[in-house]
Amino acid sequence: MSTIGFIGLGNMGGPMAINLVKAGHRVLGFDLSDKAMAAHEAEGGEKAAGVAELAAAADVIVTMLPAGKHVRQIYEGEGGILDNAKPGTLMIDSSTIDVDSARAVSAAAQAKGMKMVDAPVSGGVAGAAGGTLTFMVGGSEEAFEGAKAYLDIMGKTIVHAGDAGTGQAAKICNNMILGISMIAVSEAFVLAEKLGLDKQKLFDISSTASGQCWSLTSYCPVPGPLPASPANRDYQPGFAAAMMLKDLKLAQEAANSAGAATPLGAEAAALYSLFCNAGGETQDFSGIVKFLRGTS
Ligand code: NAD
Repeated sequence: MSTIGFIGLGNMGGPMAINLVKAGHRVLGFDLSDKAMAAHEAEGGEKAAGVAELAAAADVIVTMLPAGKHVRQIYEGEGGILDNAKPGTLMIDSSTIDVDSARAVSAAAQAKGMKMVDAPVSGGVAGAAGGTLTFMVGGSEEAFEGAKAYLDIMGKTIVHAGDAGTGQAAKICNNMILGISMIAVSEAFVLAEKLGLDKQKLFDISSTASGQCWSLTSYCPVPGPLPASPANRDYQPGFAAAMMLKDLKLAQEAANSAGAATPLGAEAAALYSLFCNAGGETQDFSGIVKFLRGTS
């Protein structure tokens, strides 16, 4: 049994922390929200008074926070994790954040003798609750090996992507493909409607032809062809458009920082921004089809 400090007990972090409790670990939780702290305690977790106390007591620290600025503050800020953790503590940041922040925090942790991985996830709230998340992990071989035992409890697929920051890189590259391909599939359905081509026929043909992709065959953005896709329940998420927009913006930040040309990624970010501003923020990201049709 390890003592695990878990910071950020929100929609994702809350159930992830509870899976660690269920596996027999002592989990000291901390969140700014009293409600999140109460839920953690109700499920067998322990409350920490603050980041410093948690960091000093933990063998392993997991963070699941909104953005890079929160992660940098919690790790590198005064009275934060790096000021208080024991040397050799293993740190796992599962938040989705910008690559530059992930690399900076990892370097600061290593300079203090800690091991750290960036380990963002896909699989959403259902994956967090069910312990079936996919983790994309960046960090040294040693840090990855140390983290794997804990990630195995919270997830089903654990992939070592490479050195620090490559977990975040994998996450935003994958989601940039997803955002662009969802727009492409949605445009095709909108065009088919205008041309009098039945949506089921387009699905049947393209899902076995060269237009085949996950956005079409596993997450079809129009109701009918795939009964389980969010399109059949009025685009309730699923994966919210606001989350997709966050990841597309992170991809653009990374592309600018690294000097990569990603014109379709930029266009996808612009379209999701317009969709979110038009009220689509809390809808599933496949709802972009309504925006493209002019009916959102
Ligand atoms: P959330 O807003 O539900 O949870 C974040 C939690 O962090 C909140 O409870 C908040 O109170 C807490 N927090 C913020 N600042 C803090 C601080 N300084 N100290 C302590 N606690 C603090 O968000 P979420 O949906 O759980 O997402 C967490 C991360 O996971 C994000 O980076 C998100 O992009 C990523 N993610 C989310 C999903 C999803 O489907 N929700 C899927 C994949 C990845």
